[in-house]
Formats: sequence, C-alpha cells, structure tokens
Amino acid sequence: MNPQKLFGKMLSFYGRQLWWPVTEKGEITPTYKKRAKLSENQKLEIAIGAILTQNTDWKNVMRALENLNREKMLSCKKIANAPQAKLAALVRPSGYYNQKARKIKFFCNYLEKNYSGKIEKLFEKPVSELREELLSLHGIGNETADDIILYAAEKPVFVVDAYTKRFVGRFCGKPMQSYVENQCFFEENLPKNTKIFNEFHALIVEHGKRYCRKKPLCEECFLNNSCPFFLSGKHA
Ligand code: SF4
Repeated sequence: MNPQKLFGKMLSFYGRQLWWPVTEKGEITPTYKKRAKLSENQKLEIAIGAILTQNTDWKNVMRALENLNREKMLSCKKIANAPQAKLAALVRPSGYYNQKARKIKFFCNYLEKNYSGKIEKLFEKPVSELREELLSLHGIGNETADDIILYAAEKPVFVVDAYTKRFVGRFCGKPMQSYVENQCFFEENLPKNTKIFNEFHALIVEHGKRYCRKKPLCEECFLNNSCPFFLSGKHA
C-alpha cells in the first residue's frame, strides 16, 4: 500500500490527532486542539517539549511543562537565566532532568544570543539551513530537530521516531535502518505538505500505541490484510 493510501486509511480509522499539544495563555496544561495560529510562546513551548520528550513518554513531559507553566518559566529569557538546579527540579518528571535542564538552557541562551530570544526569527530560515543549525546545537538530534521544524516552525519534514521505524519495518516488509532512509520513504511518496506530515506522524504514534506495539496486536489490526508482517505469519 502506498503511503498516501495508508495515510487516508489511518486518518479515517483514528481521526485527526491535533498535534502538537500546547498551553493556552493563562492555562497550565498543554491541550490537543485545532489552532489557526501558534503564538511565539507556543512555538517555544513545542521546542522545549521536543527536547524534554527525548527518551520518555509524553505524559512525563506534560508534568514537566505544567511545572514550568505554574512557575511562569516558559519564556526564553527566564529559562536562559534560570539557575540550573531550579530548572532541573522543574523538569524532573521528564527524566534525565540534569541533562535536559542543561539542554533547554543552552537552547534558550542560543536564541537569546543569536535571535534576541525570538524563536520565530530562527524559523525564518529555509528548512535545510534551519535543520543544519538545529543539529549543530547541544542536545538536538535528528528527531528533535524535525519535531521542532514540523510542529513549531510548521515546515514540511517527516519526523521519524521509534514507533515509525517499528511500523515501517513491519508494514513495508523490510526494516530500514537509518533515520534518513525511513524519512525518505515518506517524503518521496507524499505531497510535501506540513499538515499531512504533522497528522501522519501523529497517526503512526497512535497506531504504535494501540496495535503495532512491541508485541503487536496483529489479529485485531485494521491494516492486517495488507501488512507483510502479518501475512507472512511473523506475528504468530
Ligand atoms: S498487522 Fe501487525 S505488524 Fe502490521 S501494522 Fe498491524 S499491528 Fe503492525
């Protein structure tokens, strides 16, 4: 099944996922919701969330973001100037909290120094330049950079994570090892469209949680009649 058809099938099964969850002004908890426009602060929150979500579940990141919101710390300047220990205590629920506090502090310092603290200025760059710059920063790898580009800068790159690799490996009948190989599978076979890339990645994550788990629920999966992994009997 080509990626476009697969996208349609997954979208009609699961419905829109409304990623990336962000916090409304005056609130504390990020919410999934259709938004016409992201504010500068929400874009920063997505970038911070993308760093905090490394090696942990989103529910832990939510608790860390709630802590930052409660303390009114979700601003570039405040994070850049915050004592490391204070920041680490606030992001503690997201795990690896000392490292992550250092990473978000570094990121905000970088924005302060190079873009007067305005993430939107960084996002004015073309995708390839933006990606290269993000990857050059401490603590930002492929997945985090692409999360930031797709969900905060709202530019079309396909995000590859562990759910994507597992699903593609099974559904395409052959594991694709590298990040770029997995990414190309989608980018070369779909219209280069931010909305589609946004929704498709979110749908794959949902599918990875519901059916295509580490131990997959293939018998119940709505995609099983076109999945080589299931059809070859590897699931049994
Ligand atoms: S049939 Fe199994 S391996 Fe294939 S997509 Fe569904 S859960 Fe994943």
